[in-house]
Amino acid sequence: MRKIIEIINEYDPGPFPEDFDTEVIQLASNENPFPPSEDVVNAIRENALKINRYPSPYYKRLKEKIAEYVNAEPENVAVSTGATDILRMISEIVLEPLDPVFVPMPSYSMYLLFSMLREARIQMKAYEGYRIEGCEFRGKLAFLCSPNNPTGNSLDKKVIGEFAENFEYVVVDEAYADFENKTALDLLKDYDNVIIVRSFSKFFGLAGMRIGYAVADERITKAIEKIRNPFAISMLALHAAIAALNSLDYYKKLSKLIVKERERMERELSKFFYVYESDANFLLVKHGIKELPKLLEDRGILVRDVSGLEGLKGYHFRVTVGRPEENDKFLETIREIYEDQERTS
Ligand SMILES: *Cc1c(COP(=O)(O)O)cnc(C)c1O
Repeated sequence: MRKIIEIINEYDPGPFPEDFDTEVIQLASNENPFPPSEDVVNAIRENALKINRYPSPYYKRLKEKIAEYVNAEPENVAVSTGATDILRMISEIVLEPLDPVFVPMPSYSMYLLFSMLREARIQMKAYEGYRIEGCEFRGKLAFLCSPNNPTGNSLDKKVIGEFAENFEYVVVDEAYADFENKTALDLLKDYDNVIIVRSFSKFFGLAGMRIGYAVADERITKAIEKIRNPFAISMLALHAAIAALNSLDYYKKLSKLIVKERERMERELSKFFYVYESDANFLLVKHGIKELPKLLEDRGILVRDVSGLEGLKGYHFRVTVGRPEENDKFLETIREIYEDQERTS
C-alpha cells in the first residue's frame, strides 16, 4: 500500500442520527432541513421503474439546466456525484507530485486530503475568521471556499481575482453560495483558470442523492468529464437534480426562511457567545464551555464540534440552521446549559 495512506486521517463526518437510540435533532451536517419539492419526489418515483437501465451517459439535459441556472454554456459545466468528487477530480487533473498547493485555514478538510493523495506540496496558512485580504503566495492550485465552511463568510471577488493572477488554477468551492447569491461566477469571464465548484446537497436539499458540478473553462470541464466514472450519477439522482432546478421557486422560498432563521439564531446566540457572520445555512460559534457539544448531544441535539481545527483558537461549534421548531429547541437548550454553567461557576 502507498505510504501516504498510513498518514492520512480518516474523514470525521461528525455525529449522525443513526448513532443514537432516541430521536435527535440533526444540526451537525449543514443539510437543508426541509423535504424535497413535489416535482423532485415525482421524478424519483417515475424513474424508479427505469433503474434497470444505465442513466444517459453525457448528462446533457442536466448540464443544460445547470448552465441555465448559473448563466453559462453547457460546455462549461461538468457534473459528478457531489462537489467532493469534483474536488477529487480537479486534484487529479491538475496536480503532479510536489506541485505547490495553497490551502487557507480554517476550511473544508478534503482539500488537504486530496492534495496529500496527489503528493503535492501543501502550503497552509491560518487566517483569523478566514478573512483573506489578498494573495501572498504563488503556486499550482489554491483551494478557496466561499462562503467558507466552517466560518460562513464569503470572499471578496477582488481577492479571488488576485489568487487567479498568482496560481495556475484556483478552485472556489461555492457549496453554500446559493443561499445569499454571493458568487464568483462572473470571474469566469476574465479568468480561464478559475473553477467554481457547487453542490446540490445544501440549497437544493439533495445531500442524500449525491450531485455536484463544476463551472469553468471548457478545457477544464472536458478534463473532468474525461476521468469521471462512466454513469457515475445514478438515474434517480439525475432526475431529482433536474426536477430540483425546475422547482427553483420552491427552493428559493425555503432559502429565504433559512436565512431569516439564521438571522434569528445569530441574534439569540450573540447574547451568550461570539457568533461569526454567515452567508450560509450554518453559524460558527465561539464559546467557553469545553463540553458544550456533548451537553447538547446529551439533550438530543447534534452540532459539529470544530474545536482544534487548524486556524480556530478556543472552543467552537458549528450549527446548521434547522426548521424553526428545531431551532427553538436548540436555542432553549443553549440557554439552559448556559444558565446552568453560570450557576455552578
Ligand atoms: C458540504 C460541502 C461540500 C460537499 O458537497 P457534496 O456535494 O455533498 O459532496 C463541499 N464543500 C464544502 C465546503 C461543503 O461544506
